[in-house]
Amino acid sequence: TIEGVRDVRVAMMADKVKRRLVAVGSGKGGVGKSTLTANLAVALARAGHKVGVVDADIYGPSQPTLLDPANQKPQARDKQLIPVESEFGVKLLSTGQLIEPGKAIAWRGPMTGGALTQMMEADWGDTEIILIDLPPGTGDIQLTMIQKFKPDGAMVVSTPQDLSLIDAARALDLFRQAHVPVIGIVENMAGYMCPHCGEISDPFGSGGAEAAALQLGENFLGRIPLAMEIRVASDTGQPPAANNTPQGQAFAGIAHKLSD
Ligand code: ADP
Repeated sequence: TIEGVRDVRVAMMADKVKRRLVAVGSGKGGVGKSTLTANLAVALARAGHKVGVVDADIYGPSQPTLLDPANQKPQARDKQLIPVESEFGVKLLSTGQLIEPGKAIAWRGPMTGGALTQMMEADWGDTEIILIDLPPGTGDIQLTMIQKFKPDGAMVVSTPQDLSLIDAARALDLFRQAHVPVIGIVENMAGYMCPHCGEISDPFGSGGAEAAALQLGENFLGRIPLAMEIRVASDTGQPPAANNTPQGQAFAGIAHKLSD
């Protein structure tokens, strides 16, 4: 009936209004974008939000390792994917769930576009906020994601050194050009505390991202230290944000700025 159709439309619109899409990007790989995404999701879930993660880093999916080491496979209903529920209360979809670990993903453009669409249009139920782990850089997947799904906001991760910051500025520019509101910049791997003597050193420098944010007129969202615990915990599927350690609190502080 027309009534029925209208009800469905209203429900879809309500659904659309309620859910926020936040893209997490970086100028280049290896700066900790996936680690940050996973930990922000866990921190938001701990704060009582209904959170999902879409791993759009199609050629290098690492969210299953970070959030769901059991690597559950998503089910489908009426051709719609149902996100996997991780033990940290985060719903997750990733191409890493669909392919065998260690196998190369040699997909052409249309296939990656199809995979993105399936993940974005999955049955996210009552999920309030979806964090999208973008591939590094400013390529096709990022463009498709931005143009087709119009994130409500985007954040960019950078390490403190100049080269990383130059690339981060490029990633920021991509969001700006597409009129995606930039939430701010996060500095990762800032400052290393020696586990033996406690001395803090800055292998990549420190404060660069904050200065860059200021210069670019964007918010600085906070910094995460370079810490052995973060690497070890992440590799074993135990996101630091699940605990009240100083590292966990650093992630929670940034997550808080996303939930406002
Ligand atoms: P990206 O998604 O930007 O490619 P990852 O999140 O995969 O980067 O991180 C790259 C590597 O660096 C991983 O092994 C991860 O555990 C490690 N790493 C990320 N952030 C930190 C940090 N703050 N301290 C220590 N290791 C980190």
